[in-house]
Amino acid sequence: MVGDPAFTRRLLLGHGFGAALLLPATARADAARRAAATTAPRARAGGLPLVMLDPGHGGKDPGAIGVSGTFEKHVALGTAEELARLLRESGRYRVALTRQTDDFIPLDDRVGMAQAKGAHLFMSIHADALVDHGVRGASVYTLASSASDAQSAALAARENAADRFGGVEVHGISPHVAQILVSLVQHETRAGSARLQQSAVNSLGRDVKLLENPARHAAFAVLKASDIPSVLVEMGFMSNRADEAALREPAHRATVAVALHRAIDTYFTSENHLTHIAG
Ligand SMILES: [Zn+2]
Repeated sequence: MVGDPAFTRRLLLGHGFGAALLLPATARADAARRAAATTAPRARAGGLPLVMLDPGHGGKDPGAIGVSGTFEKHVALGTAEELARLLRESGRYRVALTRQTDDFIPLDDRVGMAQAKGAHLFMSIHADALVDHGVRGASVYTLASSASDAQSAALAARENAADRFGGVEVHGISPHVAQILVSLVQHETRAGSARLQQSAVNSLGRDVKLLENPARHAAFAVLKASDIPSVLVEMGFMSNRADEAALREPAHRATVAVALHRAIDTYFTSENHLTHIAG
């Protein structure tokens, strides 16, 4: 049964996926039951897709700190709340957030929440910082085992380091096996993530300054082990005076939220189109 890709996938999605594959049959059956329970809500309640928004950082983890002292965690939450409001008002989506308060949430828990709720799309919202204060603009990332460029690799390292605030996470699985398992899951969601990424880049580009090569990829923990099309939006750079000043303004965050709302509409419209063709 382990050879069955669908079964393997369910195991991966359920719980600490390394354990599921390496344990005896009885444990695998337990894992499968848990996985089935976890994936069951994936069916769309009332036909409305569930969008999971993930405001980066929170609580003891401020995220990037801007040149004039603004915390990334606050602008991330502000934008996510505005986007959530727009999505709910449209009547086309159910919306959940990984945090609605200034609390610390470990990266794995954020992915776990999306899976437990059966989310159809996962969007993590951040604002980066660089030593070079001249760099500005928005970008959208998808998961990859290797980074698209050195800047993206460094960014993933910074974002992944958020978990240092919550203690060490041990999965009891070798990095090599983890890599194979993640690639199995990612194979089927990569296309959806890439489509969502392109929608977001196109939509943001209409109203917001973009970083050079704005569609990037890197190994973000918050996008890993997810069977849900997922992107990480970097709204700009807290280290750039113009970007930071803009992100402090509710009006600019609303512009970003409108652009992301439009991107999500485009994503689901094209998904429905594809489903009709396939069906
Ligand atoms: Zn961040």
